[in-house]
Amino acid sequence: MKPVICQSCGLPFTIEISGTNRDGSKNMDYCINCFKNGEFVDHSLSLHELEIKLLEMAEIHNEISLEEAQQIIRILPDLKRWKMSSI
Ligand SMILES: [Zn+2]
Repeated sequence: MKPVICQSCGLPFTIEISGTNRDGSKNMDYCINCFKNGEFVDHSLSLHELEIKLLEMAEIHNEISLEEAQQIIRILPDLKRWKMSSI
């Protein structure tokens, strides 16, 4: 199965680390870091904070490349979670 893009953080994820609904079923819109038991893990997270987090992942933790981080940041406003908040 090919990874899907989390509709909150923009990172690719597979079914093993998919988010969970309140009834324990899988939620394939979000990864487990963003969405657990039917709600967002970090309720107060803003789009700006997420951008900083992604840059830190690239620059400090080297989890992704800076290029990847910038690519993700570009698509963030189109993701489900942030589309709603920008209206
Ligand atoms: Zn996520």
